[in-house]
Amino acid sequence: MKCFSRVFFILCLTLLSGSLFAQTEALPKELTDVRVNICPVSGSFTHEEFAAIFEGKIYHFSCATATAEFIKKPAEFIAKIKSPLEQKLTVSNTDGICPISKKPAKPEFFQVHGDSVTFYCSSECPRQDCPKIEPIAIATPTAQTPQALKDQPQAGQVPVASAPLDKK
Ligand SMILES: [Zn+2]
Repeated sequence: MKCFSRVFFILCLTLLSGSLFAQTEALPKELTDVRVNICPVSGSFTHEEFAAIFEGKIYHFSCATATAEFIKKPAEFIAKIKSPLEQKLTVSNTDGICPISKKPAKPEFFQVHGDSVTFYCSSECPRQDCPKIEPIAIATPTAQTPQALKDQPQAGQVPVASAPLDKK
């Protein structure tokens, strides 16, 4: 009898720890994408990078604030969605491994690609996986280095750099 209670105790511990740490491993096996153009929270157009999973369905939003509002009271906003197109999604990485970093993926970081959904280890990884988003080249007025200006002095072309040049 003593032995049985010990086994029972270990079993309870296993179940408890399993539910505590399940968040880092268990990804949803089946998901439905609720496709809408208009964010149910803000009324603006939705963007693919803002989404949340609720009861096996992915909902899309216009911005991070709208996503956070939805998470507070999902039922209220779901009621506002009129005739959504629901698409069953397949999970592309059922192994639970982030395809970018090869680290364990987490259920809160995901991206829908067509009719499949991929889970990632962090919010940075979906951006790397998305071919549509390219880094924006920021043109700086001081593109020419002081060294280059010194090497090529041209009387006709005065550099428009207003910042004082480093002189050593
Ligand atoms: Zn990752």
